[in-house]
Formats: sequence, structure tokens, C-alpha cells
Amino acid sequence: MADFSIRHTGTRGEDRTHMLAAVHVHDLDTLMSRAMPHRIASPPADERLPRAATEAEVASELASMAAANTARTSMIGQGYYDTETPAVIRRGILENPSWYTAYTPYQPEISQGRLEALVNFQTMVSELTAMEIAGASLLDEPTAAAEAIALASRATGRDRIAVDRDVFEQTRAVIETRCRGLDIELVPVNIDGPMDLTECSGLLVQYPGATGRVHTASTYRGLGDAIHEAGGLFIMVADLLACSILTPPGELGADIVAGSAQRFGLPMGGGGPHAGYIACREKYKRNLPGRIVGVSKDRAGNPAYRLALQTREQHIRREKATSNICTAQSLLAIMASMYAVYHGPEGLAAMADRVHGQARALACNLADLGAHVNYTRFFDTLTVSVTQKADEILAALLEENVTAYRVDGDTLRLSADECTTDLARRHVVQAFARVLDGPRTSVDITQYSLGEDVRRTSQYMEQATFHRYRSETGMMRYMHRLAEKDYALDRGMIPLGSCTMKLNAAVEVSAITHEGFARIHPFAPAGDLAGYRTLISDLETWLAELTGYDAVSLQPNAGSQGEFAGLLAIRGYHEARGQGERRICLIPASAHGTNAASAVMAGFRVVVVKTAADGSIDLQDLDRKIEKAGAHIGAIMLTYPSTHGTFEEQVTEVTDRVHRAGGQVYIDGANLNALVGYARPGAFGGDVSHLNLHKTFAIPHGGGGPGVGPVAAKEHLAPYLPGFPAGAVSGAPWGSASILPITWAYITLLGYEGLREATASAVLAANYVAARLEPVLPVLYRGPGGFVGHECILDVRPLKEQYGVSVDDVAKRLIDYGFHAPTMSFPVPGTLMVEPTESESLEELDRFCDAMEAIAEEAAQVGDQWSADDNPLRLAPHTAHSLLTGTWEHPYSQEMAAYPDALAAKKKGRDPEYVHRLIESKYWAPVGRIDAPWGDRNLQCTCPPPEAFEEQD
Ligand SMILES: *Cc1c(COP(=O)(O)O)cnc(C)c1O
Repeated sequence: MADFSIRHTGTRGEDRTHMLAAVHVHDLDTLMSRAMPHRIASPPADERLPRAATEAEVASELASMAAANTARTSMIGQGYYDTETPAVIRRGILENPSWYTAYTPYQPEISQGRLEALVNFQTMVSELTAMEIAGASLLDEPTAAAEAIALASRATGRDRIAVDRDVFEQTRAVIETRCRGLDIELVPVNIDGPMDLTECSGLLVQYPGATGRVHTASTYRGLGDAIHEAGGLFIMVADLLACSILTPPGELGADIVAGSAQRFGLPMGGGGPHAGYIACREKYKRNLPGRIVGVSKDRAGNPAYRLALQTREQHIRREKATSNICTAQSLLAIMASMYAVYHGPEGLAAMADRVHGQARALACNLADLGAHVNYTRFFDTLTVSVTQKADEILAALLEENVTAYRVDGDTLRLSADECTTDLARRHVVQAFARVLDGPRTSVDITQYSLGEDVRRTSQYMEQATFHRYRSETGMMRYMHRLAEKDYALDRGMIPLGSCTMKLNAAVEVSAITHEGFARIHPFAPAGDLAGYRTLISDLETWLAELTGYDAVSLQPNAGSQGEFAGLLAIRGYHEARGQGERRICLIPASAHGTNAASAVMAGFRVVVVKTAADGSIDLQDLDRKIEKAGAHIGAIMLTYPSTHGTFEEQVTEVTDRVHRAGGQVYIDGANLNALVGYARPGAFGGDVSHLNLHKTFAIPHGGGGPGVGPVAAKEHLAPYLPGFPAGAVSGAPWGSASILPITWAYITLLGYEGLREATASAVLAANYVAARLEPVLPVLYRGPGGFVGHECILDVRPLKEQYGVSVDDVAKRLIDYGFHAPTMSFPVPGTLMVEPTESESLEELDRFCDAMEAIAEEAAQVGDQWSADDNPLRLAPHTAHSLLTGTWEHPYSQEMAAYPDALAAKKKGRDPEYVHRLIESKYWAPVGRIDAPWGDRNLQCTCPPPEAFEEQD
């Protein structure tokens, strides 16, 4: 089977002909040439893209690339440790489409499974760090540390931060990049000596230090006291595994704690993805960046989870921006939480003790050989002095298949981890012994210890969930039970505008679990990364060709981070030309929230440009804003096709005007699914763009991450793209390297023609939905020729005006019809934005349109047949429990409540087999509509106590 295209695109043959007829065009190319303005059309060069390959070919090429990487016993540490992903979790979560194809849980009623897992994550973090509030994941440890600094800065209103020197190099680098953007002064300090903390927003220390060193508990408490006295916050970047046996940061005076959950079963993966975490004291909860899952209650009063303080997230925008985090690391946080559930607190502590034991034994062994172990108090990492012999020892280690971290020619660091065995330790000792030829001694092991003063005494993770699942059967069923509650792509379409929920093909995603991709340390010797280098260089070439840019960096681990990196590149460019005053960034009113937030983070002042009546950028307002900005105009950020779902005619006019005024053009590439193979942002006026590989290029959404947000730029901006470590925007040179095979596979499977077909099919699907629904629900904006792009905004506001039915009611009623709601109220409040993608079949598109039509009909009966608060829309979604218990006292039937799709299909005379299938595959929402404001007022973001589940009456 050569043509993967037929697997990827959901419609062909007669179905496609039917859809083309519905939108009055003959073929896909005609559709594209009529929907897309001619002056932006600029196809990439076929010969610079791979020829379409079969699934078998792709699988085997990826296997060879994985084999070209060398996985060794890694003792490099520095924030990345080998870990054993329990097989039951790998199969049950990482390889399970019910988990990896889910969307961010904005619709909580159909996301209870992943929300529970995320609450487990938050509870685990909050318990291990002894902090009151924890978020549902950040991108990685260095960016989490940078977010902690930004939080301290906001909380204190100060712009100096003291950072201890004993932090990982990549953490320091990312902090430096962030501080540059926000104009925060980074004050390097050494906590061993006197420190000037005057006017500092906080003091950041790493726990244990990068050197491995663990200070006394009273030292840490003293640091906390010192910074508190100076009016700042105490930030600790803490290792979660260490926290299971070390006094937790919360007991040492920390106000904010950040770090990574990588070593909780998340493979090193050449740098990622991993779940970063952040936790804080209660009083900073409203400033916490990223998402927080909270406990609320549903209509029946039962506890139910949902994203807390969501209005805050929707307002990651404009000058008020606090953080630009959107896509985070949901899937990884879920895996880490399951790891904690499976091992439990006693398992984690035992593991930490084992790791510490190996490090201690190794310290002893090496000291016996005459190496100098610099610090006697450590958890898992030794810093070893080996006068001028570091390189020789590294070479000897490599012969034993072991890698370690080189500090300088005299110093090495070695970290033990979950996978360190006695045998591995013997190999290390042999390597050292070959090089160190001084007299042997016998060192007393008791001199190496954590120190009793920092031994954790407090209990943690006492919640039932962390004690219930020790057997694999129990664990398998728990994960299945949670997955069963959720709606992911394995149930049906998720027509989320701007999010591109397309097929994540099995052959694409299966490559990531190859040992040769997974078990690779990002700082491994270059020779060990040959496979990754090939993969990355292919991707850089192809993405540059597809976007019309000259240089690509794959480092940013989400679209938001790509935006930040791209804007910093613009700023760097202006500064290098002596035009550092160019700090105004124009942003259209309809822009995604991350745009403005990223602009603020990169040190720009946001000026909003109005939207014209037809949804395009208001050119007159643009001229006014450009004129007003004068020589301060730095950039414009625009999205193409626009977030209104249309190919704006005058986009080149906009980019020309900004260029003439001396500004740079940032094109947000989140909507690239409407362009791939037909037009290239770099060819129609863009200087820099980010892409979302987790939208356009088939990386699954994971229930809210991981993502990859490469930044692509023209030659003149290339020198300012992220470097590593200098200029880093994430913790590893290639960010989330281990999921890049997915995109590599996607592009290789489709090839030039297949990619074009995918794009045009996506545009066709959106136009088909628009055409079918126009008679019942107006399509808000249309572009050239009356066509929409790859998505369209359905205006449901008339339902509100006429019948009092809100966009929420429609979204929740869609659950009864077996659908995930489209994007709600973005970019236009009260509307729904539908993006069907190329992967859906005609039958599924019709099922969706049928549901929307039926809902519109239902809405028309409110006020007439049904009262405003007793109707199937307001009371949606309906749970089985609510239909089967008590007496049914509503003015509509139970059948109407639960099987509205089957009823509507019957009425339309659809064939009985289809009706039967609808009934049979009914998706039941596990909870009724959730009361969000109640949850925000009573914020609880750890596992609810048993009393919460007492029967309500
Ligand atoms: C998704 C999206 C982003 C942000 O990307 P993340 O990967 O979630 O950070 C930015 N702009 C637009 C238009 C988007 O749809």
C-alpha cells in the first residue's frame, strides 16, 4: 500500500465529489485557487521535499535513525536522568490514543479522566514539595524556573532577581533569556558568601545544587529568612525524587518551587518532552502561570473537576499578560502522576534511598582510587576532582559504555538514577581505575551522607489514590476507567478551531518509544546523537521549504515559546542596527492570547489594531497606529489565515506598510494547515513565524501538550534565533526532540502531493460545513469568493438573542449528541469556531452538521414549548444517573435527553443501521454540567477528601 494519503485524508471518491459540488467547485486545486488570494500563492519546491513513502518504509527509516543514536549508561545528570517507564503506563497512556489524542480539558464534563490524573499530578507535586498550590504542568524545568522568577517579580513589583551560581547551566541560560526580555536584572550570587539582596524580588537556589551539593537545613532556612527580610520571595528549584527523602522546600521557607517531573517515568528523549512543575504558597495562586485543575461540583452536587480560574487563562492577553503558557505538558504530567500512583510514597522513598545509596557507594569507590569528591553531602550527584584527567577518564568511561558530565579539564560530575546498577557502578570504577594510578586508600562511607538534619520526617501522599494501585491489574483498570470517561479522537471528531485536531497516525507516533530515541541524554557526546542529527537536519530543511524561510530552530517546546523566540529575534535585530527603541508590537484585536503575552515577555509594548467589519485588519486603523508609533514601530504579529478563518486579501498590503515603517512582520503559523504546499508565509511578507507541530504536523495534542513550536526566520533574523546554551528558550538544544519523529513521519508519508491534498481537503471540509450550516447558523466571516479557509466561525449569538440559549448550552448539548464542542468564544465572544480538518469522513462531518441543525431546532422551542431553565439545552449534558434515578419531571423525554441524534436521524428517515449505530455507541458524560464559579470561589486543587463524595440530597 503506497499511498498513505488515503489513510490520512478522510474523504475521497464520491464523497469528495459530493462535497465539491456542495461548495460549487470542480476539484481541490480550483477550490484553493479561488479561496486563496493569488498574490499569496507560492508553492514550495517539490524536489526539496521527500518523496511519499509507505508506512513500512517510514517505520524502517525511523528505526535506522533510532539505531544511529547510541544509548549508554548515562550518568550525565544535570536535570535529565534515566528512568523506567512502567510498561503498564507506557501501553496504557503513552501508546493509548484515548489519552494522547485528547484535547486540553476546556470542556470539563467530557474530560474528567484526564482532569483527575492532573489533580493527582498537582497533589503529588504539592505533597512532595510541601506547598499549598501546584499547577497542572509547565514546559520544562528551566522555563518553570523562569516563570517562578516572573511570578516573584509580579508579586513584589521589583525587577532584580538573585540567582545562586549552583544551578544547572541550561536553567541559568533560559533565565538569562527571559530576564533580557522582561528587563529584569539578574544578580548572580553565591550563597556560600555574603549576598546583597537589596531590592531583589527573590532569591533562586537549586535543591540539591547542580554540583550535587546539599546544604544544611538551617542554611536553607537562613537563606529564606534573608530574602524575606529583604522583601523578596524564596524560590527553590527542587528535584522531586530527592524531595521524597529530603526536607521539602515548603518546610525550608520556600514561597515558590519549580522543577521537572522527568525522572518520574518520562524518558530523557534527547531533551524532552517532560513535565515541568510549579508550586507556590496559597497567596500567590491567582498569579500562578499555566493551568490549574480544581475541584468543583456538577448540577447534581457531585464533585467534578475542571480547569480553575480559567478566565485568567483566557486573559493571557494584552498588557495584563502574566505568562504566555498555553500548550503545556499534559500527557507527560499524566504519566508522571501515574508513576507516583503506581509506586506510592513508600516506593518513591525506597527508590530515592537506592539512588542515594548508589551515589554514596560510588563516592567511596572513587575516593578509594584517589579522586577527590568535592562535597560530602549530596543526594544523587558527585562532583569529582581529577586533576587534568577529566578527558582521559571520559574516554575510559565511554569504553565502558558510560557517559558523565564534564565541568572542565579537572572536574567531572556523575549522577546516579533509578536505573543505576551495581554493575554500572563497577564499570565506572574500572574506568577511573585505569586512569588514576595513585595509591589506593580505603575511605569510610559514613563520611558521605545527606545529613540527618535534611532527612524528610513529614508524611506525604497519604491520599487513597497513591495507595490503591500496586498490582498491574489494578493499575491497568484505573487508567482504563479514567480514559473511559473522556472524549478523545478515538470516539469522534473534535472540531476545534485553531487547534487542528487531525489524525495522529499510529505509525507516526509509534517511533517515539524506540530506545534509540527515548533513552538519549540531550547532552550526550555528539557522536551518540547521529540519528537525531539526521532527523533534525531533514526537518529543518523541509520546514524551511514549506514556510519559505531560511533558518529553523526546533528548540521551542510550544507555539508560545516559538513566538517569544521569534520576537526576541526581532528585538535582537533592531538592537544590532542601533534601533533598540523599536519596541512597539502591533497586534490585531482578533489575535490569539499568547501573541500579546509573548510580546510583553519579549519586552514589546502592545498596540492593538482594530478589526474591520468584514473581519480583516482595519487598514485605516493600521495606518493610524503606524503613524503614531513612528520610529518606535518594532513589529506586527498577525495570523494567516486570520483567526477569523479567512484568507484576507490585503495581507500583503499590511506587511508592506509595516515594512515601509521599519517594522518586522511576525506571522503566527498556527493556521498553517490552510497553507502547506500552496503558500509560504516567508514568501508573502513574513520575516519570522512559529509553527505548531502539534497542530499542523500531526503531533498529538496529549490532552494539553506536549507541543513543538519551531521558529522559522529569514536570513537577516537567523543570527538572533535561539542558541544553546546562550540564548536558550528551553532546557535542551532541540527542545522536545523525542516527538520530532512524528512530524518527520508525517511529512515523509505524505510527500509534496499528499501534503497539498491534506491542505486542500481541510479547506474543503471547512467550506462544506459552512455551506451546510449557513441556512441555520450564519457563518460570521468569509474571504475571497465567499470561501472560508480551513475553519469557520458559526454565529450562535442569534440563538441567545431570540431564545436565550447560550453558546455554553450549545456546547454542552453537543455532548449529548456525541461531540466535543468547537472552540468557544474565540476569537469572537459567543460564537463557535469549527475546524474539521482533512482527516474526518463525510459521514462524520454530516453527523456534526446534523447535530448542529437539530440543536438549532431545539433552541427554537425554548420559550415556546420549554421554559428557559428546564429544557434539554440548559440541562445538558445528561448523565445516565440523572435519567435513571428519581422521577423524570422534565417537559422532554428521557429519549430526547439521551438519544437526540438517533431521534433526529429517525425523523430524517436515515437508514436504520445508522440509527442503531448512534444508539449503540452513545457517549455518556460521567458528570452533569459543572459549576465553574463555585469551584473558583472554593478553590481546591488537590485530591478531594472522601467526604466530598458523600451522597447529596
Ligand atoms: C495554538 C495557538 C497558539 C499557541 O500555541 P501553543 O503551542 O498552544 O503555545 C498561538 N496562536 C494561535 C493562533 C494558536 O491557535
